[in-house]
Order: sequence, then structure tokens, then C-alpha cells
Amino acid sequence: MSRAREKNTVEDYRALDVRELQRHGVLVAGWRGKWQWSRDGEVRASIGLEVESLERLRLCYQVTFQGRAEAKDYPVRVTWTPCHLGGSRPWFLCPDCGRRVAKIYSHGVFACRHCLRLNYRCQQVSKRDVASDRSFKLRDTLGCDEGFLSVPAECIPKPKGMHWRTFNRKIAQLKAVDGRAWGDARALLDRLERRVRP
Ligand SMILES: [Zn+2]
Repeated sequence: MSRAREKNTVEDYRALDVRELQRHGVLVAGWRGKWQWSRDGEVRASIGLEVESLERLRLCYQVTFQGRAEAKDYPVRVTWTPCHLGGSRPWFLCPDCGRRVAKIYSHGVFACRHCLRLNYRCQQVSKRDVASDRSFKLRDTLGCDEGFLSVPAECIPKPKGMHWRTFNRKIAQLKAVDGRAWGDARALLDRLERRVRP
């Protein structure tokens, strides 16, 4: 396994790219619909999107926090900067820190990569051991490319050729790590919800 692959990377998370929304004609006041993530032609996740104004989107979706479904519904602000050749380009303002960013990533809630302490492939931004990183690594060894947000540990099937004892040990480990990852996500979510409260 290469070093780059050992680190958790932003590609593991669902990213929402404001430029992509613009390219798809979503950034129009009053637009309402679904935004989907697919892999191998199969829809893996989706969220409800509502464009309240050119400065404000609303995200609506469901996450399962340790077996309990929770509805999420909160605004994300958008800002625009002029381009050299005319026109303007959109940016998200991270719901957590307010940074101007092109992409936000889901970790139960959407925030920028700084807030989620993600690493880009080939570029280590932080050496800190984050529970979600460990979760993705463990899942990788179990042949599961879905994160703790979408697939609970108990739903991961045993890979062919792996001993049951090894498998059970890894699942037990993963459950503990996922618990911590959810704790981090929970803390971020609580912070976010305090911030977006009117
Ligand atoms: Zn942020």
C-alpha cells in the first residue's frame, strides 16, 4: 500500500462543488431538486437542494447517527467574486468557519476541508490522527469503500478469504473507531447548528 493511499483523502467524502452546481444550472433563485453522487452508474447518495437566493442554499438530507436517522436541514451561504473577463464566480462560505471555498464535504454535515481536517492525495496537510481517517483505513482493509456515514460497521460483509476471527476483530475495532468518528461529527454538527441558528 502506498503512503498516499494510507491517508484518508477528500475523495472519500461526498463533495459539493459550487462550480459544478453552477455548470449544471442549479444556481438559479428558486431552483429546487436533488443532487446525487453516483459511482459505476449507481446512485450512492443524494441530498435535497433549494436555492433560496443567489446568496443562500438550503441543504436537506438524512444521516444515520449510530442507528438513528436524523433529518438535516440548514442553509449554506454563497458569495460571488468578479472574474477578469467579466461575469462572476460563486464560492461557498463554509458553514462552520466561514472560509470562502469552492468545495464543501459531507461528514454528517457539510464543511470545508480545513474544518474536516482532510488531506488531499499527495499532500499531507495534517499529521493528526483523526477517527474518520482510521475508519476509512479499516474499511479499506475490509474491502468497503463506503464511509461510516453511509454504511454502519455491522452491515459490512466478510471479504472472501478472510478468516472469521480476523473479520470479527476488525469489525469490533471499526465499531469503536466509528463511534469516535461519529463523536467528532456530532461535535462539528452541534457547533454548526449553533452557528446557523437564527
Ligand atoms: Zn470550514
